[in-house]
Amino acid sequence: MGYRIAIAGGGLGGLTAALALGQGGHEVIVLEQATAHRTAGAGIQLSPNASRVLLRLGLGPTLEGKVTATERSRFRHFRTGRTITEARLGGEAEGRYGAPYWQIHRADLHEALQTALAAVTLLGVDGPVDLLLGADGIHSEVRRWCFGEAPARFTGQVAWRFLVPSEGLPPALQARDSQVWWGPGKHFVHYPVDAGARINGVAVVEAGAWTEESWALPGQPEDLRTAFRGWHPELQQLLERVTPEGLFQWGLFDRAPLPRWHRGPVALLGDACHPTLPFLAQGAAMAIEDSAALTLALAQAPTVSGALAVYEGWRRSRTARIQQLSRRYGWVYHLGAPLATFRNLAAPLARGTTMDWLYRYDVEDQIP
Ligand SMILES: Cc1cc2nc3c(=O)[nH]c(=O)nc-3n(C[C@H](O)[C@H](O)[C@H](O)COP(=O)(O)OP(=O)(O)OC[C@H]3O[C@@H](n4cnc5c(N)ncnc54)[C@H](O)[C@@H]3O)c2cc1C
Repeated sequence: MGYRIAIAGGGLGGLTAALALGQGGHEVIVLEQATAHRTAGAGIQLSPNASRVLLRLGLGPTLEGKVTATERSRFRHFRTGRTITEARLGGEAEGRYGAPYWQIHRADLHEALQTALAAVTLLGVDGPVDLLLGADGIHSEVRRWCFGEAPARFTGQVAWRFLVPSEGLPPALQARDSQVWWGPGKHFVHYPVDAGARINGVAVVEAGAWTEESWALPGQPEDLRTAFRGWHPELQQLLERVTPEGLFQWGLFDRAPLPRWHRGPVALLGDACHPTLPFLAQGAAMAIEDSAALTLALAQAPTVSGALAVYEGWRRSRTARIQQLSRRYGWVYHLGAPLATFRNLAAPLARGTTMDWLYRYDVEDQIP
């Protein structure tokens, strides 16, 4: 039976949920507060556990030409540039996990989801609904209505985000790799987007106080360059290209895992219930997985409340584990001497299989 479902929030989580639920035979409406999405400077990595869902939703042809298939995940020493450890992705990941590892500009993913939504049944704004889904992000109002006030916690970390043209940069910077540079109190991530035309950069530093989390807070390139002075010359070439128009600062906030995800006919999805720090590149992936899980749960259970219990049961421990692990990775990335020396010796021992449990996940395996 098709339900009438209202979704608060049209971010990557809300839109993916709308598409999955719409394709699952439900009538959906997305209620988004923003008139335009501010996604400048924002690439996103989509690991196989997320791309599998997007491919099943039929987005493959639309995303082709927009995504870059990641060849390697490479971790480098901040000063010498040497590779501390790496995991082969590309065709190897696709064979191993049954779906590709992609990099894409967020705006392209938004657009693909919105275009695909034109084919599903949309609900009018009036009339009752069977389910309200809160996909309204880390500062979720829906969460507050259901479970009360609990402000998100500032982690002490700030991410600088930018996009620069890749033409003319050294080949190592243009490689189809996701590169993470580890240094004391900081790390730096970059990878190509727009089919290699631009490089997406995220630089995370330990900061003091912070008041907001916003796309609208511009950064000063000179401050960013100062923060990474002394890092490898390749990175300096990347930083030279950063301009004030395309540089944003983003405070990183966190919450403890929620013990319950639904109350009556209201449920949460994505950052609204399990905000995930970006160090494993899994926040949006979890929202995408949630979308597939909720759709499947509604198809399995005879009532909405039964389906919400199934959905929570399938998702809560996995997302909590990833929230906690992401936090721990932030700490590991920022180690200084002497612990960094042990980390650098131990990291290559993992032999590229560490993420198998994470990337192999397929919610359809949950069906008894
Ligand atoms: C630096 C950085 C890098 C990241 N990199 C990755 C990555 O590589 N891979 C990955 O998987 N994840 C990554 N993430 C995490 C990812 O961005 C988030 O987990 C994901 O965007 C969450 O999606 P969401 O739809 O749940 O929430 P959001 O993206 O926050 O969307 C919520 C939406 O709800 C709207 N809204 C809010 N309140 C209301 C309201 N009251 N009514 C109506 N609408 C409302 C907002 O305007 C917004 O559009 C990264 C995060 C950061 C900070």
